[in-house]
Amino acid sequence: MQKKMFAELGLSPELLKAVVQMGYEEATHIQSQAIPALLSGSDVVGQSQTGSGKTAAFALPAIERVDVKLRAPQVLILCPTRELAVQVAEEVAKLAAYKKGVREIPIYGGQSYDRQLRGLRDGAQIIIGTPGRIMDHLERRTLKLDQIKMIILDEADRMLDMGFVDDIRTVLKQAPAERQTVFFSATMPGPIQSLIKTFTKNPVNVTIENQALTMPDIDQVYYEVDRRFKLDVLCRLIDLQDISYGIIFCATKMMVDELTEHLAARGYAADKMHGDMTQAMRERVIGKFRKRGLDFLVATDVAARGLDVDDVEVVFNYDLPHDGEDYTHRIGRTGRAGRSGRAITFVSGREIYKMQSIIRFIKGKIRRERIPTEEEVEKKRANSFYDSLHKTLEEGKYERQDALIGRLLDQGYVATDIASALIHLFGDDVVKPAEPVREVREQRPAPARRDDYARPAPRDYPPERRERPEPQARRDYEDRPALPERRPISTGTGLKADRTAGEVSHEAGMTRLTLGVGRDHGIQPGDVVGVIVGITKLPKEVVGVIRLQTKQTFVDIADEHADLVVSKLSGIEFKGRKLWCKRATVAKSEPKPESH
Ligand code: AMP
Repeated sequence: MQKKMFAELGLSPELLKAVVQMGYEEATHIQSQAIPALLSGSDVVGQSQTGSGKTAAFALPAIERVDVKLRAPQVLILCPTRELAVQVAEEVAKLAAYKKGVREIPIYGGQSYDRQLRGLRDGAQIIIGTPGRIMDHLERRTLKLDQIKMIILDEADRMLDMGFVDDIRTVLKQAPAERQTVFFSATMPGPIQSLIKTFTKNPVNVTIENQALTMPDIDQVYYEVDRRFKLDVLCRLIDLQDISYGIIFCATKMMVDELTEHLAARGYAADKMHGDMTQAMRERVIGKFRKRGLDFLVATDVAARGLDVDDVEVVFNYDLPHDGEDYTHRIGRTGRAGRSGRAITFVSGREIYKMQSIIRFIKGKIRRERIPTEEEVEKKRANSFYDSLHKTLEEGKYERQDALIGRLLDQGYVATDIASALIHLFGDDVVKPAEPVREVREQRPAPARRDDYARPAPRDYPPERRERPEPQARRDYEDRPALPERRPISTGTGLKADRTAGEVSHEAGMTRLTLGVGRDHGIQPGDVVGVIVGITKLPKEVVGVIRLQTKQTFVDIADEHADLVVSKLSGIEFKGRKLWCKRATVAKSEPKPESH
């Protein structure tokens, strides 16, 4: 079954607008099958997991069916837990945003009756509730089902497990016979099948085809990652595993935009592809990616389809695909033509259930891997630094500094101390991180309880800050200069160091300045751009590479504006400190970071 574009499904312009607003580019498999069937009035039985897009699959036709002039319950959605009821109600509200007059209300145990009664009295047409509380309202006659046109049972198998089968039966019996009935369930145990038999009429069966494809040459792993730290884990894996050519898949255009910006800000040669880009823009990006002018392509499924790049080193599923079929398509971009490939998938919280269904779908092994620890990252940095130092010494390709070293030796310093001090000054970034690299802890899905899913307690630990050269903070890749000049220079060991840091800018037309604030003062690259643009009123395009150090920051400014920036920024109050700003000179005559 091919996936379809939303515009092909027969939805009204109001709903299509909401779908675009939510950043969905195309319908998922389940949506492509269920929406037309439901719009045509059929009953539907869908075998589908959370994460397959099933909520919108039933919610869009449900909203479509609502007669806004009628202020009475017209659609009833039964969910096993209050959490799911709230989630579904939220999605219904978003999808109904442009259809005026549609009201939805979640109804679940534990919430005050008053609020629910008010919502019902106000004329909510879509009721999303847990079976117990819905039964209460039916018994109290505060909820009437006489105008119900559609009943949806979401996660029917879970409702069965939770002992709601009799309640479901009662509700289905009370609703008018002339209605649509929709079952969504991950599994179809006997009692659910018998409910389906009793309460649906010639249902259209909607499933994801179970055509497992074998992918023998692809090494597949997944990491359970707290959603908030996906970016850090991604960068950590890229660095640690020396990954230099990959596609990173995200669920929406917004995510693609966001991730591309984050990666570029961290100095990775990444660009994006999604459906909002013109053909010319896409071709330009693909061309660059093919020629290895880019290391990473961040894309949605739609944009990547038909993308003729087939030998990527790694496919990242930064956001989990909707189902096994999408997973298969995505990872098929690696390991082609007899080469071995890799697929790395991030799984957050409850997505683990979807991951399990993907594993079943592909009938294959996807190993669970542990997120690399802080120590491993540090060790790698130190080893890489050692290797490059060793290589430099072996090759002898460096200028001797006998006079300078001789002066220090004359003063009684020993060679090992001098070397250590130099490493401290210039190798700081690689031998040890400026701040402790915090372990990105993993988040396991909480076990399901009878009446709810427990949410894991939020953990409050800041993401690791990374040592990365900051490229020019331009958003528009169309006018970004060719990447090779701006790309961080690979040390060949996975560490990408900016050789120009602390020296005069190596970029034509740019002057490197030093600001007397750095990471230790809580500075981010955005703050640097912000203060320069804010104080000088120059456009942000005059700002080039930004290189944060512990106590100071190097920033490139277009030559003709450098003096203005120095004069305007010097002496101002910034982040609670008096700021100094001067032209950077070659490394040896620069103010030492630690002395400020
Ligand atoms: P569900 O299976 O309904 O729990 O949906 C899982 C996630 O997929 C939700 O976060 C939805 O917002 C998202 N989603 C649903 N349909 C689409 C789509 N067509 N494109 C992208 N994301 C979607």
